[in-house]
Amino acid sequence: MSNGSTPPARPAADDAPYRDARRGIPERVADLVARMTLPEKVGQMLQLDARDGVREPVVTMHAGSLLHTSPDDVGEAHDLAAASRLGIPLLIADDCIHGHSFWPGATIFPTQLGMAASWSPELVERVARATAAEVAATGLHWTFSPVLDVARDLRWGRIDETFGEDPFLVGELGAAMVRGYQGGGAADPDAILATAKHFAGYSETQGGRDASEADLTQRKLRSWFLPPFERVAREGCAAFMLGYQAIDGVPVTVNRWMLDGVLRGEWGYTGALVTDWDNVGRMVWEQRIFPDAASAAAAAVRAGNDMIMTTPAFFAGAQDAVARGLLDEADIDRAVARILALKFRLGLFEDPRRPDVARQRAVVGRAEHTALNLEVARRSLVLLTNDGALPLPDVAGPRRIAVVGPNADDAQVLLGDWAGSSGQVDWMPDGHPREAITTVLDGLRALAPDGWEVGHARGADILTLVPDPEGPTFADGQPRPPIATPAAPDPELLAEATALAASADWVVAVVGDRIELVGEGRSTATLELFGAQTALLDALVATGTPVIVVVVASKPLVLPASAERAAAVVWAANPGMLGGRAVAELLLGLVEPSGRLPVSVPRHVGQQPTYYNQVRGQHGTRYADLTQEPAHCFGEGLSYTTVEYTDLVVDPPVASASDTVRLRVTVQNTGARPALETVQAYVTDVVTSVTWAERELKAFRQVALAPGERAEVELAVAVQDCTVVDATGRRVVEPGEFVVGVGPSSRGRDHLLGRFTVRDA
Ligand code: BGC
Repeated sequence: MSNGSTPPARPAADDAPYRDARRGIPERVADLVARMTLPEKVGQMLQLDARDGVREPVVTMHAGSLLHTSPDDVGEAHDLAAASRLGIPLLIADDCIHGHSFWPGATIFPTQLGMAASWSPELVERVARATAAEVAATGLHWTFSPVLDVARDLRWGRIDETFGEDPFLVGELGAAMVRGYQGGGAADPDAILATAKHFAGYSETQGGRDASEADLTQRKLRSWFLPPFERVAREGCAAFMLGYQAIDGVPVTVNRWMLDGVLRGEWGYTGALVTDWDNVGRMVWEQRIFPDAASAAAAAVRAGNDMIMTTPAFFAGAQDAVARGLLDEADIDRAVARILALKFRLGLFEDPRRPDVARQRAVVGRAEHTALNLEVARRSLVLLTNDGALPLPDVAGPRRIAVVGPNADDAQVLLGDWAGSSGQVDWMPDGHPREAITTVLDGLRALAPDGWEVGHARGADILTLVPDPEGPTFADGQPRPPIATPAAPDPELLAEATALAASADWVVAVVGDRIELVGEGRSTATLELFGAQTALLDALVATGTPVIVVVVASKPLVLPASAERAAAVVWAANPGMLGGRAVAELLLGLVEPSGRLPVSVPRHVGQQPTYYNQVRGQHGTRYADLTQEPAHCFGEGLSYTTVEYTDLVVDPPVASASDTVRLRVTVQNTGARPALETVQAYVTDVVTSVTWAERELKAFRQVALAPGERAEVELAVAVQDCTVVDATGRRVVEPGEFVVGVGPSSRGRDHLLGRFTVRDA
């Protein structure tokens, strides 16, 4: 043990080797670590909550990193770190997961689930680039994004943060986001560090309950949950955040198989590991697998965690662990060295990347970012049904639209979780500036043809809040959300809305959920439209006026039976600041619908889970009382035109494991409007040594088609990606026959089928 090895504090001379940028990073790190006291080293491992100010964390606790630092405090945080004994710069982090979430006036894009509906890694990379530029200008270095959890039970409150239910799509979009954030690395003033989270399996909840024990085997992890993380590890993602959940009795924070075996070992990952919020404390007070902070701290450090998020007790606990011989100081040194290396690599000792007010004025919310935001919002919208009412006719002259519903003119609801007033920080109680946000009502008012009248009525409320009888805070002092109770139909609101609807040519009913039904600790038991919204839709449809339903919601929702008689249904996720404008453009036919579902939409909450890539094998294909088919499946989405698929060619028909199989298909726009078609290729391994998913997405490609245009699209499927995880946990290609299905969604009956055979190696 090296308990007594900490040297007496040496002053940091200006010519100390660690300050010399000409020296190599390992030498600088070693010099600096040797100068640090044990409290300084333990503090360096801490990432502390700065919402109550930055002095205590930086000065008293020697924190190496902060999160949730208010815009007013960022400069002071930098100053305090610069004035500390060794002048070690801070890493300032936050959850900038769809834009610079908590910076007033920043560009807030659609949520990850909304962005995923674009099926465009290229767009997602540009969003991350724009976000990084805004974040970097404000003196922050690090975002806790992307989320790579694979959507499973939709009752979970964090579905909106995911890229949906398919590991391949999640991995491709996640990798694009990492590239966008990290840009050109240290040399790039607009680069920030990315974090892949929540490693791994956090979304495999029980009944959707947030952070519940995940019922996963190592094989199941390797099959579906680890691949997106492996993808971004290869992309050089700077940090991984470890999930809250335990798997088979072991919290991820101390899961040696996952951290040492797979991540550091098999994948050779050398980036930093950060815990999630108080993971180390939770092992004591929540999961109760350690008796005290010292033993939890020792286990977390030995398991390879570098940065301990918001466990202030780690400060005394880790020092105590060293004193009691539970932890070798050399283990702390290793973690500290990794954090310092990150800071040196980013060049922070030379340039701490302080907030730059002039740059903020030029960059935060700049016109180019707003234009990009509109582009992403358009691409995030998914047209689910359309009886031909859409697009609305482009005719001048008297027409009336009734814009109805609780989400029709609610600005903050368009932004969703992790933005402004969503609850994580207290400095933006009213959310992002109203004038930066376009609601659906704003959009229609601005864009409707001359002579059209746009009326508005709320029609219904979603919920009221009552305090949780268990008290306003959890055991750790974090706020406990109040309980959402469904709002009852209000006869006056309803009468006003139906009168407006009856007098209109079309109703645009904007329904969905609100922040009180979304997020951590806010999973839902139901997926139906909440509160008085069902009564509202029923009443609107009963007027006989064509109703266009726009669902602005954090997750797929189950619509009432009356919605089957709606003229059209558009799913809009939380489409960001310009979401309302994008919806209006789509309804009016100023843009074409092109989004595709990144997650299946169930008919009933009892169908959970509804993800398309389920393991084959069960008795029958339906429930006694309901089909198992979702209302809309992964990959689905309509255009204002039709696209025909013909002539699938699979080449070569016999391949070896190192080959790439080319799929050529002809697509033709057979309608009168342009299309942006997402051609999707799914592979079925006909006979597998273990049970496996019936079909898996292996490639996709987007092609723009003018009316009447025909194009041959080629997709490439590498045979080495056509794997299963066998009974021993190895990911292997098993020779034999494979069926390829190419089509506009994951629905097998719409696929053109081809085959190829993989011969023995
Ligand atoms: C969430 C993380 C987030 C962190 C910091 C946690 O509760 O699970 O996703 O990055 O808080 O805000």
